[in-house]
Amino acid sequence: MSIDRVGELGIVGAGGGGFPTAVKLGTRVPLVIANAAECEPLLHKDKELLHHLSGPFLRGMIAAMEMVGAPQGVIGIKEKYHDIIVAMEQQAPKNIRVALLPDAYPAGDEFILVHIVTGRVIPPGGLPKDVDAMVANVETLMNIGLDQPVTQKYLTVAGAVRNPITLRVPIGITIGEVIAVAGGATVDDFSVLLGGVMMARPAAGIDVPVTKTTGGIVVLPSSHKLIQRHTAKWPQIARVGRSACDQCRFCTEFCPRYLLGHPIQPHRAMQSLGFSPSPAEIVAGTLYCCECNLCSLYACPEDLDPKNVCVQSKPAARANGLFFTGTPESVTPHPMAEFRRVPMSRLISRLGLSEFHNVGPLTEHRFSPSRVTLPLKQHAGAPAVAVVKTGQTVNMGDLIAEPEAGKLGARIHASIRGVVRLTHDSVVIDA
Ligand code: SF4
Ligand code: SF4
Repeated sequence: MSIDRVGELGIVGAGGGGFPTAVKLGTRVPLVIANAAECEPLLHKDKELLHHLSGPFLRGMIAAMEMVGAPQGVIGIKEKYHDIIVAMEQQAPKNIRVALLPDAYPAGDEFILVHIVTGRVIPPGGLPKDVDAMVANVETLMNIGLDQPVTQKYLTVAGAVRNPITLRVPIGITIGEVIAVAGGATVDDFSVLLGGVMMARPAAGIDVPVTKTTGGIVVLPSSHKLIQRHTAKWPQIARVGRSACDQCRFCTEFCPRYLLGHPIQPHRAMQSLGFSPSPAEIVAGTLYCCECNLCSLYACPEDLDPKNVCVQSKPAARANGLFFTGTPESVTPHPMAEFRRVPMSRLISRLGLSEFHNVGPLTEHRFSPSRVTLPLKQHAGAPAVAVVKTGQTVNMGDLIAEPEAGKLGARIHASIRGVVRLTHDSVVIDA
């Protein structure tokens, strides 16, 4: 396996980021960390992959280590998954060890994971390679091991569905078709969060296609407070935040990046709501918010939204050049960091998700979609450019789009056999 081959297969970060894996592999580091933390409540497809597809996963991990020249590998797994830990310790070669992760949120954040595994802190705005590591998601490594074009996606369907389940689905199928295989929603009026509940993206509808980065589909009653929070509009967020924030600092004291020693203090971003125009120094540090949502959905006793205030502040921080200028050595974790981790059980209770069970084993289902819609942008970087024409017949695995010359992007392949129709942003294939 070569880096060029990884690019040919269209492999991207399957954990949600969608960064082209071939680009990530073009670095030299002594350590590869497999991220199996999967800390979004109710999601667990990576654990299922380690259980059922350990062969391709380990092949991919070994190949990735060879490509970056890493003599050592670490698989970061939650300590509660005893059977998977035992299986990995038995199957992995001696130079790949297992690191136990707390069942806490956000253990899967790259910065937190690297700190737990290596004891080193990636500097604000930095990358794992700054501390001699590369991090890749379990499914990404498995896709390397499978050595075939990426046409399928593994995901968990959870929440208010009759049969929570983990599935392999053709990329481009609608989320409505996937929810139907999970037995359908248990409530008439439901909404869907894509990718989890903390860093979720509300789906525009059930006709939205599954992409290379769709790791989970969470169905919730439309009246659920998480749906309300994720769909709140900025004017309302700002108005309530301006009048109700009492500067208690809970948001900052629980912020995982603040606890890591990064210069982010969401309560100071909240202060900026009360000043017009926002003094530049008030929004300093918001660039280093990872948007984990812990401050908004867990820490704030007033149910305010410091995460969105940080997000809104980022352009001002960037425009004012408020980048971190300290040395990496000056970044030291908070002495209470280890004791402020938020246990998953407490988070699930706080989010009002206790009635939904964290089950959903990997189950084989044979999908025969009549149509798939493959967005030209389902990765970090620029949209891919179609290399097929309307009316052309393609087979599963055929190349249908590739990155524009000189731009960051990834190849896209047909996930079913059928006839192509081009739209402004997608390749549609009718079976
Ligand atoms: S936790 Fe809530 S009330 Fe307290 S400072 Fe942060 S935003 Fe304000
Ligand atoms: S979303 Fe909130 S808790 Fe998470 S990194 Fe940003 S400021 Fe910190």
